[in-house]
Formats: sequence, structure tokens, C-alpha cells
Amino acid sequence: MALSFGRELDKAGLFFEKSIMWDVGNGTSINVWHDRWLLHKSLRDWVVGPIPLSASELSLSHLHLNSRLQLEFQISFPIPESLFVLISSISLSSNPDTSFSDWSFKGRFDSSKARSVLHSLELSAPPFPFKWDLIWKATTYPKVRFFLWLLAWERIPNNQNLHLRLSHFQPFCPFCPQCVESCTHIFITCPRAVEFWDSIKPHAAYSQDHSWRFWLASNLQLSSPHSFAIPWNAIFPAALWHIWLRRNAWLFKKKNIPLSQSINQCIWAASECFFTQNSNLQSLKPPLPAWIPPPPTYLKINCDASFTMPYSPAACAAVCRNFKGEWIEGFSWKSFINSAYDAEMQAIFLSLKWIKLHNWQNVILSTDSKRAVEEIMSDMSLANNPTCLVNCRDLLRELQPLELCFEERTTNAVADLIAKDARRNLEAMDQLCILHSPTEGCMAAFVLDQTTGSVISNSIVAGDVPVNNSMVCNNS
Ligand SMILES: [Zn+2]
Repeated sequence: MALSFGRELDKAGLFFEKSIMWDVGNGTSINVWHDRWLLHKSLRDWVVGPIPLSASELSLSHLHLNSRLQLEFQISFPIPESLFVLISSISLSSNPDTSFSDWSFKGRFDSSKARSVLHSLELSAPPFPFKWDLIWKATTYPKVRFFLWLLAWERIPNNQNLHLRLSHFQPFCPFCPQCVESCTHIFITCPRAVEFWDSIKPHAAYSQDHSWRFWLASNLQLSSPHSFAIPWNAIFPAALWHIWLRRNAWLFKKKNIPLSQSINQCIWAASECFFTQNSNLQSLKPPLPAWIPPPPTYLKINCDASFTMPYSPAACAAVCRNFKGEWIEGFSWKSFINSAYDAEMQAIFLSLKWIKLHNWQNVILSTDSKRAVEEIMSDMSLANNPTCLVNCRDLLRELQPLELCFEERTTNAVADLIAKDARRNLEAMDQLCILHSPTEGCMAAFVLDQTTGSVISNSIVAGDVPVNNSMVCNNS
């Protein structure tokens, strides 16, 4: 019984995942009466009685969505207020319509059952003076706008909605077996949502006096800048979307996306949308992915090198920070080096010596040179085994359990800027120059790292709300 219920759940998940991606674009390929464009239904499903032949070929692109009078004239049919509110909540765009998912997933889902589920979803939300532009002009991807629209109608396939029509679906939250999984629960009161919002410090707090839609609307209109130099109403849609993705990953794939990863992706998506839509602000776009802080009680050292041409001065630099992104110490160093690879290797070697000098414990050393990491970690001896490589291997062994890792260039902005600055301006050669505070040239990048880092770090410190396999399977 438990097994078959689980299978049913998975199938429904697949089914709904497909259907939820459907989106109205410019409306040219959608037949107003017969295609399903109104919360998984066609207009025909919403009204009873015969349709005038003259109206039946009308395409959605020609419909006056915002004038009830004109709309009724076009379709030659009077419609109830609630249906007009639903229709006028849709906005046509210049994008092509994305094709409908076919209800019959051959062999994967009982299509007649699915059809009856969707057709029986009644329009219960009362007319509400909701500014639909808040959704259709939201700073986010088109698919997330469509998701917001479904949210405003509380028509996402959460367990509460599924239970209304399929009695064997348990209405409860997969993480909180005692709570009905409503929209309010998933996105506001569920511990999985609370930990998410806590990590990004929301603007508009939810109050029990307010309706779900009021909460959505008030967050969507808050354009004041939030963290990460982007407005709250750019972060908010991304946050809802990532809370939903994280829930689905667990429910359908049994995959627990760590909170820190989900937050990082959310901020990344929000930044990308915001800076793409405001291309004049493109130059302010933060380097992404951002610096990744170490776990609490650990130190993170980022090292880098700056090299221009053989036998000309090159520089190495490193910065040591704690999990809050606070500056512990840095260094720069300048000398003549033969190649970019040698310079990267030298930066690692100097960092290892520096770590040993301070006797720092619990250290993660990060470089953006993948090749250097691979060669140091490998047991293979190279033909002309360079002294620096051998020295690095020896020191690394001595400093165990120190972790040496490769990370993208964009995570390494501070060390990169210090190294470039040192190559140009440092006078002393072959000397470790200790930096007790951030240099002027790296200050902006340092502050940015600290901002994004603290968000990620907070979510690591708080720890994810644990997911438990038994919760899902116990439902039947
Ligand atoms: Zn819950």
C-alpha cells in the first residue's frame, strides 16, 4: 500500500511538474475556447451553454483581456465576475506560447483521473483588486512569473490542492506531518521556509491579519534596495521559486538541497535577472559565483598570482578570512617567474609556508588554478618534477588535515586584486609583505564577499531543517 501510494505520488509529481511549466506568451497559437489556458482549463470548461460559431475560432492574441465589456462582446458570451478577474489576471507578452503538456502521459499516469482532478479545481478565490502587473512585470524569469500567477490563485499542485480532488493524497506537509500543506504553510510557516527567510532577512513580515495575496502583493511592490545591491522585489520571486524547487527536489527525487546552496542559487538568479533587466547597471554586476565562506571555526585562505610575461615581475597574494568573511591577515609577494603556472604554484607554496608560520589549524586553502591542485594532489611524478611542486606536496602532507581546493575565478576576486596591485606597485622583491587590513584596491570586492558570505554562512550555522525519509513514506 505504502509503495503504491509512493508511486502514485511520483507519477502525480511528474504530471504536475509538466503541466505547471505551461505558459501563455503572445497568445497567437491559443484558441480562446478550446485550449487550456485558464488554470489548466479551457474557457469552454468554465461556461455552460452553446457557444456562437462566430466566436469559436478566436485566438487569445485578439482578446481584450482587461475590458469586460469588450471581452464579452468578442466572445459573445456573458461571464461571471470571478471568471473575468481570472482572465484579466493574465498578461500577454511578446514571447511565443509554450506548448501545452498533453494530459495523457502514456503508461505513466491515469489521464482520465488527471483530467477529472484538474477540471474539478473550482475558482474559489474571491475577486480581489490585485495589481497583476506586480506579477507580469516582476523582475524574474517568465516561468517564475507564471508560477507567481498560480501562487496568487493558490493553484500550485501542493498536497492540500491534490487532496481536495484525490482522496488518497495526504494533505500534509512532507516535513511537518501534522500540518496541512497549503501555500501559506509551504512559503511562510513551514520550518523549511522560515530557515530560508531567516537567512535572507525578509522585508515584509507576514502577519496573520493579512491574506495570502496581500502578503504576495506587499512583497512584490517593495522596490527598496535590499542586500546584494538589488531590490527586495527581485529577491522575493526567486526566493519563492527556490523554496518550491527545494521542496520538490526532496519530494520527487529524495534529494536534499542544502539550504546554503539553495540560498546561493536564489541570490544568483535574482542578481542575474535584475542586472540583465537593468543593463545600464551591468558594470555593477557582482562577480558570481561569489566567495564561499568556510564552516565556523575554520579559516579560508584564497591565494592567487598575477603574471604578464616570462621573466618579467609577477606577484603572488593570499588573504585569510574567517567564516564571517572578516579579515585575519593577507600577504603579497613579488619576484621574477617564468610562467603563469609557476606563479600559481608559487602562490600556493607561499600560502602553505604562511599557514605553517602561524600554526593555523582548520584551514581551507583555495586557488583558482585547477591544474596546480590536480598536480599537487596527484601521486604521479612529473618528468621535470619542479621543486615548487615537490615542496607543496611536502608541506601539504605536513599540514594535514589542511584542505587544498580549486574554486572558480569569480570566488577569488580579493586575492586576484591584491596580486595585480602588488605586481604593479610593490617595490620590495622576494619578500613576504604582510597585510593587516584589506588594501584599497580590493576593498570593494572584500565588502561584497563579506555580504554574500555572511548570508551563506548564517544558513550554514543555522543548519538545515532535517529531512527525514520516513516522513514521506508514512503518509499512507
Ligand atoms: Zn512543513
